[in-house]
Amino acid sequence: MSYIEVDKNMCNGCAECVAICNYEAISVINEIAVIDRNKCTLCRACIKGCTQSAISILKLHNKADLSNYKGIWVIVEYFDDQLKNTGFQLISKANKLAEISGDKVTAVLIGNSKAENKKLQKTFSDYGVSSVRHITHEGFTRFIPEDAVDVISDQIMEDKPKIVLFLGTIFGRTIAPQIAVRVKTGLTADCTELEIDNKNNLLQIRPTFGGKILATIETPHSCPQMASVRPNVFVEEKMPIPVENVKIERIEVRGKLSFSAKALKEVIRIELGEGSLETPLDEAKVIFCAGLGVGSKEGFEKVEKFAQKCGATIAATRAVVDEGWTDFSKQIGQTGVTVIPELYVAFGVSGAIHHNIGIRNSRKIVAINNDPRASIFKIADYCIVADLFEVLDKMELQGTRQTI
Ligand SMILES: Cc1cc2nc3c(=O)[nH]c(=O)nc-3n(C[C@H](O)[C@H](O)[C@H](O)COP(=O)(O)OP(=O)(O)OC[C@H]3O[C@@H](n4cnc5c(N)ncnc54)[C@H](O)[C@@H]3O)c2cc1C
Ligand code: SF4
Ligand code: SF4
Repeated sequence: MSYIEVDKNMCNGCAECVAICNYEAISVINEIAVIDRNKCTLCRACIKGCTQSAISILKLHNKADLSNYKGIWVIVEYFDDQLKNTGFQLISKANKLAEISGDKVTAVLIGNSKAENKKLQKTFSDYGVSSVRHITHEGFTRFIPEDAVDVISDQIMEDKPKIVLFLGTIFGRTIAPQIAVRVKTGLTADCTELEIDNKNNLLQIRPTFGGKILATIETPHSCPQMASVRPNVFVEEKMPIPVENVKIERIEVRGKLSFSAKALKEVIRIELGEGSLETPLDEAKVIFCAGLGVGSKEGFEKVEKFAQKCGATIAATRAVVDEGWTDFSKQIGQTGVTVIPELYVAFGVSGAIHHNIGIRNSRKIVAINNDPRASIFKIADYCIVADLFEVLDKMELQGTRQTI
C-alpha cells in the first residue's frame, strides 16, 4: 500500500503544491503543507513540483490483518426502481466464489427506491442472497458517481468486506477506481473470470496485451480485494432452493449530496430525455449495430433514427467510434461492451473477431452486408447480401415495430 507524506522539517509553507494539486487535496496550515488522504489520488504531481523535496510517497509492505475482513459484496445498479439484470449475473458468480471461501454474499443497492422490502426479498431470495444493504437518500434520483463513491467507501471502511465486486458498466468503471483509492486497495478492471485460491484470496483474471494472454492478478496484502467484471460474461442462475429470511438493511444517508456541476449536467441530460428512451446496451433486447459500411456520420444517424423508431438500442463497431460518428459507450466488442440481445442486426459490419467476441451469445443475428464473403455471415442466422441503405429504405416503407 502507498502512503503520501510531507516532511515537516523540509516544508517551508510556500504553497506551490496547493496550486499544483488538481484534486484540492493540499492546504497549508500553520506554514506546513497538509494532505487530505481522502482526496489525494497519489498522482505525484506535487512531489515533482515541490522545490524542497518535502513530499514523498512511502510504500508500506506490512500485510493487512485480513482476519478482520469478511464477506463478498456485490454492488448492484438500480435505476428507476429496476435492478439491472447484469447484477444477478455477478451475484450468481459471487455465490460460486462464496461456496469455496465460506463467505456470505451481500448485495449493495444504491437508490431512492420506494420498492417494498417484500418485493426485494423475493427477488434476492431466488438468487441465494441472504443479506441486502439498501443505501438510500431522497436525493438519489439517479446514480451520481461522486455520491456513490462517498457512501460506498464509508460503508466499506466501516464493515470491512473481504471482496467487493463491481459491474464493468460505465457507472461501475467510474466509481470502482475512485473507491479503491479511498479505501486504499487495488482493483482489477474488466475481469472475465474470478476464482478463489487455496489461501482464500480472490484471483482476478482478465485479458491483456490486446487479448493475447490472460493475466491472473491477486492482491493478497490488502483488503478488500476488488474487481470489476464485464456485464454478460457470467450466466445468471437462480438457486434451486430460494433463501429464506432475506435480511434487508436500509441505510438512510443524511446530509447534503456533493452535487457537482458534472452530476447536475447528467441529471439535466436524463431529465430532458436525451438517452433516456434507450435501454442500456448490456441490457438491450434488440440492438441495431452500425459498422463502417454506413459510410458517414449521416449514414450512422440514419441507422440510429431507424433504431429509435423500432425501439432498438443503437450500437457501433470500434471503427465507427474511431471515426467519431458516435461515442465509446456504444462500442460492442473486445474493448467495448459484451451483449446478449434477443436480436442483433448488423448494418455494414465486417465481423472482425474483436467485434464478434462481443455478440456471439446473441439469440439471433441478422447481418446486412454487400460483400458475400464478409466474416459476419459465418456467425449470422440470417444473411442479407445487399446495400444496407436499400434495405433500410425498404424496411422504412413497410413500417417499424411491426416488422421486428
Ligand atoms: C486490440 C483490438 C481490439 C479491438 N476491439 C474492438 C471492439 O471492441 N469492437 C470492434 O467493433 N472492433 C474492435 N477492433 C477493431 C476490429 O478489428 C475491426 O477493425 C472493426 O470491428 C471493423 O469495424 P467495421 O466492421 O465497422 O468496419 P470494416 O471492417 O471496414 O467493415 C465494413 C463492412 O461494411 C460493408 N459495407 C460497406 N458499404 C456497405 C453498404 N453500403 N451496404 C452494406 N454493407 C456495406 C463492407 O463490405 C465491410 O464488410 C479491435 C481491434 C484490435 C486490434
Ligand atoms: S511545495 Fe513543498 S515546501 Fe512548498 S508548501 Fe508544498 S510541501 Fe511545503
Ligand atoms: S499526489 Fe497528486 S492528488 Fe495527491 S496531494 Fe499530490 S498533487 Fe494532490
